[in-house]
Amino acid sequence: MTEKVLVLIVGAGPSGLAVAACLGEHGVPYHIVEREDCSASLWRKRTYDRLKLHLAKEFCELPRMSHPSDAPKYITREQFVRYVDDYVERFNILPRYSTSVESCEYDEASGRWDVRARDLADGGGRVAEYTTRFLVVATGENCEGVIPDIPGLRDFPAGEVVHSSSYKSWKNYAGKRESWWLGVATLAWRLHMILPTMEWKPPWLSVARCML
Ligand SMILES: Cc1cc2nc3c(=O)[nH]c(=O)nc-3n(C[C@H](O)[C@H](O)[C@H](O)COP(=O)(O)OP(=O)(O)OC[C@H]3O[C@@H](n4cnc5c(N)ncnc54)[C@H](O)[C@@H]3O)c2cc1C
Repeated sequence: MTEKVLVLIVGAGPSGLAVAACLGEHGVPYHIVEREDCSASLWRKRTYDRLKLHLAKEFCELPRMSHPSDAPKYITREQFVRYVDDYVERFNILPRYSTSVESCEYDEASGRWDVRARDLADGGGRVAEYTTRFLVVATGENCEGVIPDIPGLRDFPAGEVVHSSSYKSWKNYAGKRESWWLGVATLAWRLHMILPTMEWKPPWLSVARCML
């Protein structure tokens, strides 16, 4: 059965939650769907243990709710996740989890979006269909790790190749003789700075910054 909604928000990361909170405050009905089984999945599942925000907390807050005044200027990942949980509770946001949007098509005649989503909780067999007047795509820019097809990478002889979204802790690499970090974005640089400050000081640690 096709569900008719006024606003459909895709993604329950910070952006989707912010839109939901603001719409809710103005009494605008909305639905919010999220592919993972939790909100802010990037922060819970694809960030490393020691992560702290690299921007001061006042630049990383969502509308209508500040970070606690006693929180440090650069809050930790755990503090940010707690903040998101408090936000969800405060604005009574109820995402439909494990629902992955697969297609969105605009129908000129009706002026509505037809959206198909897969219910992953149900083994992926069930498809949910929505028709919505307004579609908010808040699926983020970092939520999927992409390893480009670099020549030679598949047969890389030295060992493990890991995308930064799977990196959790330096402890998994302790004792390794050499590591190369290849990146086009900030995380490669952050790890480059973090790792040598740890107990383990890799003898060779290189960052290659290239445009792929
Ligand atoms: C290591 C790291 C450090 C960072 N540090 C900072 C920082 O200090 N300060 C800062 O402001 N930002 C930082 N960022 C940037 C971060 O991307 C943003 O803070 C924030 O998470 C972006 O929110 P978003 O909601 O736009 O996207 P995301 O957090 O990526 O959320 C998108 C959501 O959409 C869901 N989704 C995707 N596709 C679908 C689909 N087809 N159907 C349903 N749901 C879907 C995803 O599962 C995800 O939960 C950092 C990012 C990383 C990776």
